[in-house]
Amino acid sequence: MQTPAVATTLATLIRFAPVNHGGGRSDGERAIAEWIADQLRAAGWAPLLLHRAGGRDRLNVVLRVPGADRSLPGLLVHAHTDVVPVEPDQWTVPPFEGLVRAGYVYGRGAMDMLGTVAVLVETLVAWGRDGTRPRRDVLFCFVADEEDAGHWGAEWLVGEHPELFEGIEVAIGEEGGMGELMPHRDGSTRRVYTIQAGERGTQHIALTARGDSGHGSRPTGDDAITRLLHALVRISDHEWPLAVGDVVRGQYEGLAAALGFTVDITDEASMLALVDHLGPLAGPMRWTIRPSATPTVVQAGYKMNVVPGQASAQVDVRCPPGTVDLVDATLHELIGDGVEWHYLVNGAPLASPTSGPWWQAMCATIMAHDPAAVVVPGCMGGGTDAKAFATLGITTYGFTPAPPDASGRFAAGYHGSDERYPVASLVGAQTMMRHFLATV
Ligand SMILES: [Zn+2]
Repeated sequence: MQTPAVATTLATLIRFAPVNHGGGRSDGERAIAEWIADQLRAAGWAPLLLHRAGGRDRLNVVLRVPGADRSLPGLLVHAHTDVVPVEPDQWTVPPFEGLVRAGYVYGRGAMDMLGTVAVLVETLVAWGRDGTRPRRDVLFCFVADEEDAGHWGAEWLVGEHPELFEGIEVAIGEEGGMGELMPHRDGSTRRVYTIQAGERGTQHIALTARGDSGHGSRPTGDDAITRLLHALVRISDHEWPLAVGDVVRGQYEGLAAALGFTVDITDEASMLALVDHLGPLAGPMRWTIRPSATPTVVQAGYKMNVVPGQASAQVDVRCPPGTVDLVDATLHELIGDGVEWHYLVNGAPLASPTSGPWWQAMCATIMAHDPAAVVVPGCMGGGTDAKAFATLGITTYGFTPAPPDASGRFAAGYHGSDERYPVASLVGAQTMMRHFLATV
């Protein structure tokens, strides 16, 4: 069978290996961005290539396609071009060769999220060729640096070029709308599509305890390390209250109805029964029902017999919509006096409507291609570039629709090994995205 164009495009994108190592270190998105821009130009478009000062290798590609009715609010479609690193010895195939084998496209970024980049590039190429124009303005942003902090990508774009987003009402981006086969309690399966309509907020905090340094043989009980550890233990042991908003409620109730369960969102046990039933298919559902705070970095000390004068830590805090103030107040209380702390990142949670015309349009696209589909809202446990675009007042969804592969292949390897996208799902993704962008 001939390889479909969208799969060939994905394979090409994977070979650029635009690895983002984090902490500002990156192999760069320049070559991949230039290749994307070349494809668009060859199809008759005039994309903008933009980068932050000092970041010529961190290119972003932006293209606004005017709609037939320019009085309608516009749509933003965003996808990131960077990928996370690999541990090559964990892979059974070369991670950056863009191998198309046994019905899959293999490679780092296949799912996250060069597959969507390929779908969007192919859509624009097809529009250029056949003259299709969307009903409303569609702004395409292929951005750098999502896998780190977006300082060279989405965050910089919205800060430096807000004019690009004028008239944009809604954004779609990663990661939602991929169909999954989920088990009903009676043993049958349901085809479930989860559209991300929310994200927990990202609060990354840094703590520092200071004290007198001294000899390790003469403990005072009030040194920097001990005070920091007590604060971290209070944070780790804290039992955060349930905080289930509309999006998470919609997800639990929608899935329960589809899969033969009953849930009560005030009763954690009933919710966790559904989560346990779903296993890995539950994704972050176990964590999106309340805030969480996880110590991830601890630094102190330099010699066995010296009490250091300073100890520091970082804690990864995530808060569901509606809990920002509660989480802030609780952190103050838990950390207490004697340990300084501040926010490294303080990104608000997101919650978008799960009814209304935009939601209906996403559901209609899925149903048009998969009449047996069950569509539910979902909430991301962490965050995406959507947070940056939301600061402009844009309503955001994780929506990159794709049908499950009919012969049972499934997408795998997000941030892991042997990352792969089933070719049949990718072709379906292309059809669904074109349908959505042309009709919304
Ligand atoms: Zn991603």
